[in-house]
Amino acid sequence: MQDCYSSKVEKVAVYPGSFDPITWGHIDILKRSLCIFEKVIIAVNNTPSKKFLFSFDERVKMIKEVLNKEKINSRVEIKELKGLLVDFLKINNVKVVIRGLRVVSDFEYEFRMAWANKKLWKDIEMIYFFSSEKYTFLASTIVKEVANLGGDLSCFVPKYIEKYIKEKFKK
Ligand code: ADP
Repeated sequence: MQDCYSSKVEKVAVYPGSFDPITWGHIDILKRSLCIFEKVIIAVNNTPSKKFLFSFDERVKMIKEVLNKEKINSRVEIKELKGLLVDFLKINNVKVVIRGLRVVSDFEYEFRMAWANKKLWKDIEMIYFFSSEKYTFLASTIVKEVANLGGDLSCFVPKYIEKYIKEKFKK
């Protein structure tokens, strides 16, 4: 067996998530991973058993708008994640997965998921970014709760994303 440090260096990473909706926290992790990897594939979770507020198409539309407005289009690809993450990685020929860590509760979940994935495919490598200080509190769930109560979203998502969220809560 070839040691990984003597084989090819990874240039592409997958950033999986629900992005329901995308927030400044996700954007921060994405931008920081683009400082390390040449390309990042955003794997948008579309597992039928999972409940999302925004449809897959709506979530992708918001991500695309972020990529355009933040001018990070060229090195990011968006793909649908429907089954097991390890299968997605194998199909796309990528080993590295990016995740963000905010609080201790994230760690417990991520720790279990990382080991489950490692059991499914030993070549997977997980890379965790600690949340930037100003986004440690920020989660898509918080955004939805605040939006539902008609609160100000400007600290949570870019201005150009607010319109999609407000529109959703108007219905
Ligand atoms: P999932 O349902 O897969 O957790 P999310 O869209 O909630 O999808 O999150 C995707 C990834 O982005 C996770 O690793 C999560 O920890 C990370 N993330 C979300 N918000 C933040 C934030 N504010 N700071 C750092 N990482 C974050």
